[in-house]
Amino acid sequence: MELTLYNTLTRRKEVFAPLQPGHAGIYTCGPTVYAEAHIGNLRSYVFPDILKKTLRRLGFQVRHVINITDVGHLTSDADEGEDKLELAARRSSRSIWDIAEEFTRLYLRDLERMNIEVPPDMPRATGHIPEQIAMIQDLEKSGFTYSTADGIYFDTARLPDYGKLARLRAEGLQEGSRVEMGDKRNKTDFALWKFSPPDSKRQMEWDSPWGRGFPGWHIECSAMSMKYLGQTFDIHTGGTDHIPVHHTNEIAQSEAATGQPFVRYWLHGEHLVLGESSRMGKSEGNFIGLQTLVDKGYEPAAYRYLVLNNHYRKFLTFTFEALKAADTALTGLRRLIAEAGGAPGDLREAESRKSMTPLQEKLLEDLADDLNTPKALATLWTALRDSQVAPEEKVSLAAFAEGVLSLGLFDFSRLEAAPLEVPGEVRALAEKRWAARQARDFKQADELRDELAARGFAMRDGKDGYELTALD
Ligand code: AMP
Ligand code: ZN
Repeated sequence: MELTLYNTLTRRKEVFAPLQPGHAGIYTCGPTVYAEAHIGNLRSYVFPDILKKTLRRLGFQVRHVINITDVGHLTSDADEGEDKLELAARRSSRSIWDIAEEFTRLYLRDLERMNIEVPPDMPRATGHIPEQIAMIQDLEKSGFTYSTADGIYFDTARLPDYGKLARLRAEGLQEGSRVEMGDKRNKTDFALWKFSPPDSKRQMEWDSPWGRGFPGWHIECSAMSMKYLGQTFDIHTGGTDHIPVHHTNEIAQSEAATGQPFVRYWLHGEHLVLGESSRMGKSEGNFIGLQTLVDKGYEPAAYRYLVLNNHYRKFLTFTFEALKAADTALTGLRRLIAEAGGAPGDLREAESRKSMTPLQEKLLEDLADDLNTPKALATLWTALRDSQVAPEEKVSLAAFAEGVLSLGLFDFSRLEAAPLEVPGEVRALAEKRWAARQARDFKQADELRDELAARGFAMRDGKDGYELTALD
């Protein structure tokens, strides 16, 4: 089975061909740890998780690296403004190391709560200063750098294909953008090393051949990804906001330093945006973190369901209504799995099975099609609701799906204590009502709701499934 991925570099879906047969290296730009991640940030770590688990099901050995940015990311993504961490430290009068540690810990907690597998390699920028300095020295030797009053800069004019990822046109940028020039030669030039200000002391600074200072933001990702994955590696992921500046500059400095292509497949996740109804009170600002959802009684898996039910390359509008619908759908899936006789133990059994059933194969095909998780969820729903599919097969499909989707499908703790006995005729009525709703025949749907109620059942509707509960 082939894996196809949309490559931002070529703007096409391509068949994934690894550098080394059977192996795949993935680098994901990690968080800047000056504040808690918001749910949009977290969305950007779900699709690499699906990618990794899909690759494994396809037989690959995967090495995945997520970095921790704890220095050098300035308040503007370019080279102006203050270091985000220095600013956070000054505002809270805490040490910068303390802040970095706290938000790294909270980030890891959120990954775990979202069932995102935490990679063994999570290098910190401040733990790789010598590697970054060495790379800047390489660039200096090949004449790609120049110095200004405030730092060492990369001369983008020296690289004929600068901006190829974002398809930037140098001329347009020179005229149209509002980038501060300072002493830079070209608007697109960027800092590799910034000098500490002469009049104030930074909490984080290091000696270098060019003087005391700190690395520019982009250089860390080049130095660390190449250290862990090699000069050329398979896949690099991040949010779409990274295309024009951060990833463009990673490519420029890496390819200038090594003379080799840097990354073969660039994958970018589209943003999460807040819908009207998600505006929060003034005191809370506009910030929604995972904890905000948990405090409102949602389990993180419901948010994961919402994310997976939308393709990673499409905008996702977050509203609490959508989250509630995702929560309902997830409960509905769990109930169907429990009804088919699923128990937590089934998971291990099914996962260890060598050969795939046709349904498992179908679900993997959905995922192998540029990580089409909405399609995979639809496949799961259809099979679980199909009376022609044997219960054991439903359970083995669900276990297989769980291995990649990681939704806690076999976690029945939120279902009512006693498993709900649903007589066949009630299920048939529910299916009929669901079909009526799909056909927008709301009159018939209402009649069927009454029929269900007469038998003691209520039906809650999700986006792509429903849940039956006992009427109280
Ligand atoms: P940061 O911590 O700001 O470095 O961002 C961490 C990740 O979140 C990066 O991959 C960003 O591209 C991504 N990101 C930022 N805002 C959003 C958003 N609203 N939706 C999805 N991803 C985002
Ligand atoms: Zn990065």
